[in-house]
Amino acid sequence: MPEVVITCDWTMMSNHNGKEFLGFGTTTPAYVLPERVYKRLFYPDMPVDENGFPVAAPYGMRKIEAALIDGGFDARIVHPSHLHRYMPGSAKVLLISGHDYFGLNPPASTFGGVMHRDPLNCVNFKRMMTQPAVVEARKQGMKIIAGGPCAWQIAPPTRMKLPWIQEFVDSFGGIDSVVEGEGDIYVKEIVRKALADEYLPPHVIMTPKEAPKVEQISTIKYASVNGLVEIGRGCCRGCSFCSVTTRPTRWYGLDKIEEELRVNAKVNNRKGILHSDDVFFYGSPNVMPREEKLIPLLQLAKRYYEQVGWSHVAIASLMTKPKLLPRCAEVLIDDKQKWWGVEIGVETGSPHMITAAMPGKVAPFKASQWPELVVQAAGLLNDNHVYPACTFIVGLPQETEDDVLKTIDLIDDLWDFKA
Ligand code: SF4
Repeated sequence: MPEVVITCDWTMMSNHNGKEFLGFGTTTPAYVLPERVYKRLFYPDMPVDENGFPVAAPYGMRKIEAALIDGGFDARIVHPSHLHRYMPGSAKVLLISGHDYFGLNPPASTFGGVMHRDPLNCVNFKRMMTQPAVVEARKQGMKIIAGGPCAWQIAPPTRMKLPWIQEFVDSFGGIDSVVEGEGDIYVKEIVRKALADEYLPPHVIMTPKEAPKVEQISTIKYASVNGLVEIGRGCCRGCSFCSVTTRPTRWYGLDKIEEELRVNAKVNNRKGILHSDDVFFYGSPNVMPREEKLIPLLQLAKRYYEQVGWSHVAIASLMTKPKLLPRCAEVLIDDKQKWWGVEIGVETGSPHMITAAMPGKVAPFKASQWPELVVQAAGLLNDNHVYPACTFIVGLPQETEDDVLKTIDLIDDLWDFKA
């Protein structure tokens, strides 16, 4: 019976029908069709064992669970439909996580704004936190600590700016602490304090100096959603709008990665995603890809997974060593895998915006080359069976009308590529 329960809402506790990017479907409001249709399409329930522990869970939560287990705590991830089995009762601390608690991030904020309704991730988060089990346990003294990539949304400064969030937090009895940033080390300290009924700081922001070293990051103990396995953290490109870049770059060794591939293979995950903010850079201390690091990584992943995807890659990395992508395709593409996907932050078609907000994104090339590089990279990707999902940002403070027109031109130029 875990003393420390970790959970998230139903939209995250799902394998999204085996297609990670279908998870974006949870950022729309239920519109015209009933919610159950969206659930079936985008976030079917994750199977659980006899204890209500999910077969697979979001990777970041698995890291926190592993850190606590390694620290000697009785901690487990519990499916949100099974919280009542542990609270009120054995659970003394509830850790919650989320990508977008209140639908304030894109694209949920766009969909929600256009349709004037709460997106599904927000609806489900509110539903989870107001379950009678949570509210009653809270009344009886259970501590609640929030984290995850969207921790800022529920942190005290946001609650002051957006009183409706404070009202919602009050409706289930309040939150003791919100932790932003990499919590691998700090989670043990704050949970120990919570269990000992000591003072908990209402808001903690982890600094880059407090980022854990690779050897301080625990290996996941149980499977992750869609076999996702982290290969490193941080990014050195320095885009002004990105929090990842404030963290030091660290790469995991192949041994550590293999341990997590094994954990996933045990539950028959035959597909998986290698995750970092630029998979092409695996093992590199700068912005030059290293073939002697990347190819063995892909060969290793392919020994455990029939199909391997990448979470992110940068255009400039691809174009720095364009001959490396066909080498990657030689390893990944076979009779079990016909293509792979990756998310790419294109963000703009304007060299001015590159210079103003993301000069490192184009290094070692010049900002003026950006639109041409993007088009060349799109061709390179398609030629090698890679079909990317690309993101664009509009509305950054430095943006002018001319920048927007250049971005539209670039999207026109990309129109015929497969993505
Ligand atoms: S390239 Fe991507 S991950 Fe790196 S700093 Fe820019 S936005 Fe962040």
